[in-house]
Amino acid sequence: MRIIVQKYGGKSVANIKRIRDVAEMVVERHIAGEGLVVVVSAMADTTDQLLEYAHSISPNPSERELDMLLTAGERISMALLSMAICDLGHSAISFTGSQSGIITDDIHNRARIVEIRASRIIDEIQRGRIVIVAGFQGVSGKKEVTTLGRGGSDTTAIALSCALGADSCEIYSDVDGIYSADPKICSDAIHISEIDYDTLFDLTFFGAKVVHHRAVELARKFNIPILLASSINRGKFTMVKSKAMEGAIFSAVSIQPEILWVSLKIQEKKLKLFWDEFDKIRTSIRNPSIYIDNGYANIIFWTLPANSDEVKQVLKKFDEIEIEFDELAIVAISGLKLAESPEAIADVIDIMRKHSIKFRFIGTTNMSIFIILDRKEAKKTMDIIHRELILK
Ligand code: ASP
Ligand code: MG
Repeated sequence: MRIIVQKYGGKSVANIKRIRDVAEMVVERHIAGEGLVVVVSAMADTTDQLLEYAHSISPNPSERELDMLLTAGERISMALLSMAICDLGHSAISFTGSQSGIITDDIHNRARIVEIRASRIIDEIQRGRIVIVAGFQGVSGKKEVTTLGRGGSDTTAIALSCALGADSCEIYSDVDGIYSADPKICSDAIHISEIDYDTLFDLTFFGAKVVHHRAVELARKFNIPILLASSINRGKFTMVKSKAMEGAIFSAVSIQPEILWVSLKIQEKKLKLFWDEFDKIRTSIRNPSIYIDNGYANIIFWTLPANSDEVKQVLKKFDEIEIEFDELAIVAISGLKLAESPEAIADVIDIMRKHSIKFRFIGTTNMSIFIILDRKEAKKTMDIIHRELILK
């Protein structure tokens, strides 16, 4: 039997009608003879709402209790979806992360999956049932409920696909896959029907919201084919594979409209301690670089607004440190092996100059050129770069 893991995001299960629609999609595939494991997110903005409750009860809620609270969001959608499927006359059963055998380490709010003991899921599939799994959660070795961090349901779906040896992993949201730019910003963005893991990783890392970059990394590592589609506007989709788009130079532009750009100077001898402190809280320090000059380390990196408080907390632990924070944005252009091409960087700089757009920093990854610039320039820059480098 083909085993398919599907994941439905918060917008796909936003209300009762959408949950019923998802139930129908699932049942259709079940009737076709596939073994289905369906991972769900919390309904619409439930997670944000629960977080708001927590922070209005206490400015500093315990991380353990936050996990107890937030896992409830996914539990609601899993039970409702299971009921909806049963209502259509098919057999379904819902499981929490813990019941699904998703074992994590014991770091609350940002746990990592260490192992999946999927025997219970497998038994139920063999019994002919559709299995619904609450995304974004697991259980630690100490039997504590944990969450995987925001957007973690995608990671649940890919990890389950690995553990079950699934034939594919289908991730449904309210957008029908990847576009050459954010269609809400660039109305002429082109739909991309096939993309490789490396490019997709960068696009999601630099702001494309269709799937979480951590899940893309996991899929790349285990070579899990992913299908990205909408459960609301059905039709188009994007297939993610290890090799696609051979020959394309620029494939898409992405945007992080709000980042915190951090530049600092610290004594070189404190460098190891500095990174250890960040490692301890597992925060997201992105594209860091360090250069050493005269016994001092000059460090630059960026982080998202959601992480900026914890980053600032850590920085406070160091005295004798010079820090500058800037609220900026990123526009990135991704494609095949861009970093090897001085020509591509020259093209970007030429465009920026032609349109008199100032930038603070240009960096590269293996697949992307990213430009750090003023927030108010970001959308315009995305549109210009998209038009000049992709549409042309
Ligand atoms: N509900 C969680 C969140 O909003 C997990 C997820 O949707 O992937 O972050
Ligand atoms: Mg969500």
